Amino acid sequence: MNPDQKKPIVYLSARQVQGCTELAKQLTFFGFECRIFIKQSALLAAMYTEPPFAVLFGEEGLEGSSVEETLLLLQKLSRGPVLYITSALTVVEQIHYVKLGVTDFIYIPLDIQKLIDRLDVLLEKTQNSPYRVLIVDDSETMGRASGSILTQAEMQVQLIKNPLDVFVSLERFVPDIVLMDVYMPQCSGDEMAKVIRQQTRFDSIPIVFLSTETNRNKQLMARSMGGDDFWVKNMPAEELVASVTMTCARYRSLRRWMCCDSLTTLLNHTHIIEWLEREVKRSQKEALSLSFAMVDIDHFKKINDDYGHAIGDKVIKILARLLRHSINGEGAVGRYGGEEFAVVFSETSMIRAAQKLDSWRLRFTELIQMSDDIQFPVTFSAGIADLKNGMNAPQLIDAADSALYQAKHAGRNQVGLCQG
Ligand code: GH3
Ligand code: MG
Ligand code: MG
Repeated sequence: MNPDQKKPIVYLSARQVQGCTELAKQLTFFGFECRIFIKQSALLAAMYTEPPFAVLFGEEGLEGSSVEETLLLLQKLSRGPVLYITSALTVVEQIHYVKLGVTDFIYIPLDIQKLIDRLDVLLEKTQNSPYRVLIVDDSETMGRASGSILTQAEMQVQLIKNPLDVFVSLERFVPDIVLMDVYMPQCSGDEMAKVIRQQTRFDSIPIVFLSTETNRNKQLMARSMGGDDFWVKNMPAEELVASVTMTCARYRSLRRWMCCDSLTTLLNHTHIIEWLEREVKRSQKEALSLSFAMVDIDHFKKINDDYGHAIGDKVIKILARLLRHSINGEGAVGRYGGEEFAVVFSETSMIRAAQKLDSWRLRFTELIQMSDDIQFPVTFSAGIADLKNGMNAPQLIDAADSALYQAKHAGRNQVGLCQG
């Protein structure tokens, strides 16, 4: 989530408030904003004034109105998913509700984690940020022509005339794709692609040459230098938009596999370290604060032993989600390994980062961990350190690790600060 993104609003509609308060509490913990409705008129009015991301609807319906009646009215107003919380349904019954606008069925007994996973998937679909396109072309007219077509298709475009500026843009603009002219005075596009490809961290950004060049041999030559495709300049607008969209979508999903841990979808070990290294460099260059934390679940081995590996995985997922939502775009979270996580707090002092992390720690202890009908508490410990002059990323990691060790040693369920 970006800092300027508001929390997604979920409407809970039920016959009685009491039945939903626990669900609302859990959803709030997981970063959603909840509104409970027991009257149809209030629900429908709110749909106008503050459209929610999703509506959760219980099988008892609302006070004084049938499920069918409310769903029919809701169908006219809702643009987002409508999730129906219900006992088992036959296929015919499901079709009946789908016709009334239900998009997802959530079965009783309610598994909160499954519901959150479902809401996350639905949310991701609505929150895909616009594709970011970097155009490198010495001709401003040519660059602007492609740029305005892509901007009109709601993409974010950055245009640079000098290929030597490309690294600054790769770092700062973080494009989904680079559209590279071939003939430029400072260096050719294929030479530039070859230089970019020296740095493996840009491997997952496709470079496409846009050129009037029709000679197949020259095209192949350019691709062998590290370009991913060769498109003709001045292709019809729809074709350009479609080609960019398809390429960006494919690489975004590839990047996800390359960079993210499959259980938690957080950045994996390699990529969180790369992120930290980038932030260390930027913070030193721009004289900004930077803090880094290691987070480790307490006595996790015992959770696995007592409740099984699958429940252990569930706990890891819950913490991962809490961390991702809590950082709220103001840094990054990665799965460092097993039940350990790494958190980068950009432009944040150690004290401020520790305050944040401590509030997340408290929130985590309140989350109910479920194994069948057993409830058990889970806590984590964390160690936090800030970037000092002349420090590099491995030293910052070591400092946070020592602080974590201290926190474990001092009794766990706490945030340790790096001393000195
Ligand atoms: P401490 O409070 O000192 O951190 O104790 P701990 O039990 O959490 O730490 P320890 O390092 O002894 O055990 C970590 C356990 O985490 C051991 C390993 O089997 C388990 N683990 C690592 N990765 C996973 C995973 O992906 N899923 C599950 N369920 N368990 C995992
Ligand atoms: Mg550990
Ligand atoms: Mg542990």
